[in-house]
Amino acid sequence: MTDSPDSPDSPARPLRVAVIGAGPAGLFAADALVKDSSFDVSVDVFERWPTPFGLVREGVAPDHQSIKGVTRVFDRVLQHPRVRFFGNVAFGEDIKRSELTAIYDQVVYAVGAQTDRRMGIAGEELRGSWPATEFVRWYNGQPECADLSFDLTVERAVVVGNGNVAVDVARILLTDPEVLARTDIADHALEALRHSRVREVVMLGRRGPAQAKFTNVELKELGKLDGVDVVVAPEELELDFASASAVEDTRVARNLEILHDYAARETTDAPRRLSFRFLVSPVEVLAAHGGVAAVRLEKNRLGRSADGYLIAEGTGEFESVEAGLVFRSVGYRGVVLPDVPFDDSRGIIPNREGRVLTSPDGEPAPGEYAAGWIKRGPSGVIGTNKACAAETVAIMLEDAGQLPVDPVGAADPDSILAVLSEQCPDYVTADDWRRLDELELARGNTEGRPRVKVVRVEEMLNLMRKRGEG
Ligand code: NAP
Repeated sequence: MTDSPDSPDSPARPLRVAVIGAGPAGLFAADALVKDSSFDVSVDVFERWPTPFGLVREGVAPDHQSIKGVTRVFDRVLQHPRVRFFGNVAFGEDIKRSELTAIYDQVVYAVGAQTDRRMGIAGEELRGSWPATEFVRWYNGQPECADLSFDLTVERAVVVGNGNVAVDVARILLTDPEVLARTDIADHALEALRHSRVREVVMLGRRGPAQAKFTNVELKELGKLDGVDVVVAPEELELDFASASAVEDTRVARNLEILHDYAARETTDAPRRLSFRFLVSPVEVLAAHGGVAAVRLEKNRLGRSADGYLIAEGTGEFESVEAGLVFRSVGYRGVVLPDVPFDDSRGIIPNREGRVLTSPDGEPAPGEYAAGWIKRGPSGVIGTNKACAAETVAIMLEDAGQLPVDPVGAADPDSILAVLSEQCPDYVTADDWRRLDELELARGNTEGRPRVKVVRVEEMLNLMRKRGEG
């Protein structure tokens, strides 16, 4: 299409890009695209919720406001004259892949990882056994999870996993609700946590303390919670030979230092308690009266996989921990998008440096790209997505001059508006979002909180539509 008068490398029209997902990866990609001076790029960002920011809104813990400061960057991206935001538009339902490829030169999938990994053990689906991801979305006011009801009348909860999400879940369960009341935690979650009778959280690592994935700051924060005793058995901190060499890593060494400090602490009969357990794997969630009653654990030792990776191996020694709630915090997982290739074994869109492949061993699908967790899997912090998106954008711009198709709808910037008005008239724009944003901030201001979130889509839309009414 390089000779077409309307092609993106001619001045007649810009390169048209659709970004699917207004989370960190999508907005960092949009930012990198419009900042590049070698191409005139116009970016439309599509998001299934009326609100942007993805994991920053629905994943980052409410007591971690400083991490949310990145929304200032994202706000600027959404206000950029060459970026448009179309919220409340679900890819595959309101707009199909083929409809986008008929309008845009390039499409970037930046939809994150929308579900949780499974442990694959009996009892995992019992009442009271939850994916941590749903608890996180619930306390962060994501509309889909706003009506979930966690039985917080139980005394002990087990959190499976040693990542930062497990730490977030444990911390939110154990933090004094009056501390959370000064955050942007969803009102329904605050109310439920105010009545919580959970007194102990037991966090389970299937490997040892040197293999735990949580980071230093997050681990240290757990030791500073008011009214919480932190309990670690010193013998569970003893390292085998292979783990001892991991201590050369400063993050691991610091984690071990913090854990040794916890192990040396006297318990104080504090009202709440956090217990760390290492080298134990849940093998079954046990039931009573149809709900969770306990978790059966197998003690592990470390072994090596064929490729040298340190893995948990069962010892054949078992024990049970009584608990009324189980949160499976064993990682997020990407979900398949309609008509888009998917690598089921890794839970990602197959890609090479961000170029979507037709299958894991297949050819590039021209004009289609991936960024963020759906590209590389659920790892890293919010900022990791900046470099990830930049890598994808560099590849996109490399391809931009030699795309094989000139989409019929690309000449007219309003092509997409016609499709949306027809198929998804409730779509919202950046101005609509700004109106809701200001309202949430104002409500927060009156309550001495950073913001008060609206958690119902209908209410969001009603408030956004009040434009011009006062
Ligand atoms: P993660 O860091 O990958 O941790 C997953 C944990 O689950 C690991 O400890 C893993 O153990 C364990 N696990 C996996 N399968 C298991 C099984 N079948 N049985 C028992 N344990 C199992 O994932 P995450 O906690 O969901 O976090 C995702 C990403 O978001 C991470 O990069 C994290 O750092 C980031 N994040 C950051 C923050 C923050 O900066 N404050 C907050 C939240 C999340 P193995 O190591 O043995 O596989």
